[in-house]
Amino acid sequence: MPAETASPPASTAEATETTEQSTGEAPEDVSAGAATHASNLTIRTDYPEFSPNELGRIPVVMFHKFVKAFEPKTEKNYTATFDMYETLLDTLYQGGFRLISMDDFLSGRISVPAGLKPMVFTFDDGTASQFSLTEENGALRVSSDCAVDVLRRFNETHPDFGMHGSFFLNMDMGTNTFPGAGTVPERIMMLLNMGFEIGSHTWGHVDFTADGTRQDIEQALGRNQKALSETIPGLEFRTLALAYGSRPKDKTLRPLLAEGAWEGTGYRNDGIFAVGAAPSVTVFDKRFDPLFIERVRATGKVPAEADLDWWLAEAGTRTFYVSDGNPDTLVMPIGTEKNLDETKTADLTVIAYERKPE
Ligand SMILES: [Zn+2]
Repeated sequence: MPAETASPPASTAEATETTEQSTGEAPEDVSAGAATHASNLTIRTDYPEFSPNELGRIPVVMFHKFVKAFEPKTEKNYTATFDMYETLLDTLYQGGFRLISMDDFLSGRISVPAGLKPMVFTFDDGTASQFSLTEENGALRVSSDCAVDVLRRFNETHPDFGMHGSFFLNMDMGTNTFPGAGTVPERIMMLLNMGFEIGSHTWGHVDFTADGTRQDIEQALGRNQKALSETIPGLEFRTLALAYGSRPKDKTLRPLLAEGAWEGTGYRNDGIFAVGAAPSVTVFDKRFDPLFIERVRATGKVPAEADLDWWLAEAGTRTFYVSDGNPDTLVMPIGTEKNLDETKTADLTVIAYERKPE
């Protein structure tokens, strides 16, 4: 069907391949079973059939380190094997998850196809196993031994999974940021040119619970920004992953995490990320706090409660955000609207529908 033919079909019988076939009885309200095509976008309005939940939670997954094989001394919670990672990508894909960018997560401009679930990938500490370059015949390319390349290869066979991820950097690490071939600016630019994003992880991996004075905070964030600006002029961090998930004990200083300056260099963070331990509510949820956004730890050598595998096994079908496929609507089951932050939905059509009983 050509893109300009956007009028909805008259009944579910004409619905798309992704829409359940009609049971024979045309609904009273034709819109209840209609599907609309616009280019490759499929919009479904037979909500009870596929239970969209655009006030559901989005896992912001936190990765750290990857190894080829575990050794007895391998750290147990923050390290996975590349094989585990590759298997995870397939599990997520089969489970209906699709990657979205950090930018889209924070703006709420979420467009994944109907029935599918958005997910965000984040990577802390700038390790080589997340991303590194090698030099081949004088040209830089992504090393085959890093998570970015595993994701790139997965997208070759599953192009709709998504090539998104946000990397949180400690600029004090200097050339130990994504160690390998190329200069630090070449490494960062390669990531950005592939569509990935970067964020701050503090100058010095500072534990703000222990070192949380005004000066500690301004230096950790402003100095990290200054170093980035000196590395790649014009580039700014807009997000922060708290090292150890730690915040200053003095709550009056916490606004400094979002905005401040150090030695003339200003910084600003629109999203600040914690370390644990649950899928995040979205920006449309009253409970959303952009200055302390929950993440889910990717399962490491030793599985643990509230890690990603745990959530995938234990979360009920009503936990996660499920898209209706239409970025212009916010569709939710009746009963969840109490969490809706109506100050955020001016540009959206909000729709609540009756869920089928479980
Ligand atoms: Zn860290």
